[in-house]
Amino acid sequence: MRDALPNDVVIVAASAAGLATAEALRNKGYDGALTLVGDELHLPYDRPPLSKQILSGAWEPERVRLRDQEAIGKLYANFRLGRAAVGLDLPERRVLLDGGDPLGFDALVIATGVTARRLPDDDLAGVHVLRTLDDALGLRAHLLGGPKVVVVGAGFLGAEVAAVARTMGLEVTLVDPLPVPMQRQVGDRIGELVGQMHRDHGVELRLGLGVTRFEESAGRVVAVELADGTKLDADAVVVAVGSTPATNWLTGSGLPLGNGVECDANCRAAPGIYAAGDVASWHNPHFDRRMRIEHRLNAAEQGMAVAANLLGEDRPFAPVPYFWSDQYDASIQAYGIFPEGAEVTVLHGSLDDRKFVAAYGHEGKVVGVLGWNSHRELRKLRQLVVDRAPDPGQRTAEGRQEP
Ligand SMILES: Cc1cc2nc3c(=O)[nH]c(=O)nc-3n(C[C@H](O)[C@H](O)[C@H](O)COP(=O)(O)OP(=O)(O)OC[C@H]3O[C@@H](n4cnc5c(N)ncnc54)[C@H](O)[C@@H]3O)c2cc1C
Repeated sequence: MRDALPNDVVIVAASAAGLATAEALRNKGYDGALTLVGDELHLPYDRPPLSKQILSGAWEPERVRLRDQEAIGKLYANFRLGRAAVGLDLPERRVLLDGGDPLGFDALVIATGVTARRLPDDDLAGVHVLRTLDDALGLRAHLLGGPKVVVVGAGFLGAEVAAVARTMGLEVTLVDPLPVPMQRQVGDRIGELVGQMHRDHGVELRLGLGVTRFEESAGRVVAVELADGTKLDADAVVVAVGSTPATNWLTGSGLPLGNGVECDANCRAAPGIYAAGDVASWHNPHFDRRMRIEHRLNAAEQGMAVAANLLGEDRPFAPVPYFWSDQYDASIQAYGIFPEGAEVTVLHGSLDDRKFVAAYGHEGKVVGVLGWNSHRELRKLRQLVVDRAPDPGQRTAEGRQEP
């Protein structure tokens, strides 16, 4: 059954997905009440530059703002910033805010993103996570002191932070319990290349080893101990060990929560209630699987899809996800999904030249393409994912393709 068209939309929160939803609602002619609740004090800003241009100092903080005051004003929205949603009363259709003051709605969009995962006892001075603008500015100020840096976690975020810190001339060690950097995101073969690039730039890699504890002196971190007993001296530690969907405030609300807010293919979790961005888990019909994507473009596209569905379009959200990562002079971009065990076939250029496009094949189909300093070729080869083309690696293995 379709939802009635709303007249009072509340969006929690005010970042990439929330803003995209609000703008798309207005662009599509929605002229009812619109409220955005956000627990940060900043107007919507962009997160990808935090681990790149903001951390390196290439950009002033103002540049991450997603819209200027004028554009924000044209939304005719009520921004409730510095306020956290702490509960959802589904039967009464109210969001509960910290400090009281319930907020009624007839449609709700949940866009609360993720929070950084932490390690036990990591609440020491000198230990950082990187999720917000304030985190980035705090970390940069610390790095400017020229410390020895240990980055825990060699996923995208840890790898980017290691690259910036190394480029600032700091002594950097990158630690991960997995044997290969970015293994979960790009697999072994390309992950090995990421590792080699960091070694070439002078980062020390300690892979296949978890952190057992932090050593402190007067409440400040001084060393990181690894599972093999090694101690790494550290003036600054960055914990980049992944994230958790920000759904605590929805516990007990009756909404389906698992790995995020669980939605159908239209990003709808319950009548009149939708989720968008990093927090949303939905069934993507293009890949016929449930997914939750922590990428910037997805947040915007999913926000737009949610707005369309709120206004009655009944549109399944079936994107080919896209991400990018910048490390040193490597611009890595990718379309699709990169399941564990996917077959990697180089379609253009070569790994040795660090300029290539590789296809990821899974269950006989191309499900992802990844480009390394090869934007133009990658854009062309994206179509293989759209078409779910046969996996070129499998054809080679079965001897059906010319060598
Ligand atoms: C440092 C960094 C670098 C990144 N680099 C890249 C990149 O290179 N490429 C890429 O594709 N993606 C990158 N990403 C991911 C990308 O930024 C996210 O996918 C995107 O920001 C998701 O948008 P969102 O609106 O869903 O969530 P977010 O941008 O995380 O916003 C969620 C907001 O909700 C607020 N909130 C949470 N709980 C509550 C509550 N209870 N009440 C009120 N407000 C609440 C949060 O404080 C936050 O402001 C990066 C992310 C980070 C942190």
